[in-house]
Amino acid sequence: MFKDVYVFIEQREGVIQNVALELLGKARVLADTLNEKVVGILLGHNITDKAQDLIACGADKIICADDESLKDYVTEPYTQAITQIIKEKNPSAILIGATTIGRDLGPRISARVSTGLTADCTSLEVGENRDLLMTRPAFGGNVMATIVCQDHRPQMSTVRPGVMKAFEKDASRTGEVETITINFDKSKFRVRLVETVKETKDLVDITEANVLISGGRGVGNQEGFDKLKDLANVLDAEVSASRAMVDSGLINHDRQVGQTGKTVRPDLYFAMGISGAIQHLAGMEESELIIAINKDKDAPIFQTADLGIVGDIKAIVPMLTEALKK
Ligand SMILES: Cc1cc2nc3c(=O)[nH]c(=O)nc-3n(C[C@H](O)[C@H](O)[C@H](O)COP(=O)(O)OP(=O)(O)OC[C@H]3O[C@@H](n4cnc5c(N)ncnc54)[C@H](O)[C@@H]3O)c2cc1C
Repeated sequence: MFKDVYVFIEQREGVIQNVALELLGKARVLADTLNEKVVGILLGHNITDKAQDLIACGADKIICADDESLKDYVTEPYTQAITQIIKEKNPSAILIGATTIGRDLGPRISARVSTGLTADCTSLEVGENRDLLMTRPAFGGNVMATIVCQDHRPQMSTVRPGVMKAFEKDASRTGEVETITINFDKSKFRVRLVETVKETKDLVDITEANVLISGGRGVGNQEGFDKLKDLANVLDAEVSASRAMVDSGLINHDRQVGQTGKTVRPDLYFAMGISGAIQHLAGMEESELIIAINKDKDAPIFQTADLGIVGDIKAIVPMLTEALKK
């Protein structure tokens, strides 16, 4: 009997990643619909103390494997650990973050337990016969495909950071913590982590920003971009962009919002000179409040925006900056 919705709890250097909390939030909704449990898989070394916090974030149970081989992410030990857990526990579904780690891990596990994997899901729901309906963009984002894994278990899905909403933390929640010993086949450990070298680039994570000033082709040039930065400084915001602006070289890909960029969910999202292509909307439509400024009154972005201003950003942005400064 396959049951319960499992979540891979991604940690880096012992720090639980936000995507794991977001997946716990989604798993909670799915498990409540199915009347099943949410189970977190926590792998690492000296990490058992994190389990209680994960229960507060929506899990009913945490299966924890604490082993030196699991301290840092390496494909083979993590794959062996999760494969063993799946074979022992028979989960109905497993959700994994579509991070660099999750994208490496998901396909390995699905191949070892002979099941399907739907990557980069943007929506997960329970269907009429209790199968998971896994929706993701297909054909370059022009259609949304809903995929069902009918004949194999577990149903596996990866979801990008920022797509799902985390469960509101409740410290009074109680749950079970099970520690498990993994029977590693170390003869298969062909890769060893020798050294971790951190990139020292001044990276900003736009998914963490509360306010984003996002610019599109309508921003025009460096001068227009500098004006967005001035506004961002006043609002303590970060600047992000559509792909058009990234392609023009005005801004780094780290700050691209959309299907091939990042998925963001800030409290306030300004779409400045962005038309509202489906691939852009896929990355920002869940923002709390969307304000769009566009000179074309028929621009599709106005259908998604909460507040729309028809006008020239070159004139409006400096006025807005001055007004907010005051
Ligand atoms: C597979 C695939 C993946 C993609 N992934 C992404 C992605 O991750 N993110 C993304 O953003 N795009 C993505 N795209 C590209 C997407 O289809 C659009 O081409 C892109 O989003 C357009 O960017 P834009 O809105 O800035 O430019 P445009 O569509 O050219 O729109 C510019 C807008 O600015 C307005 N404007 C011009 N001047 C002014 C002014 N002075 N004041 C006010 N408004 C003005 C115009 O009216 C227009 O609405 C992807 C495409 C494909 C095929």
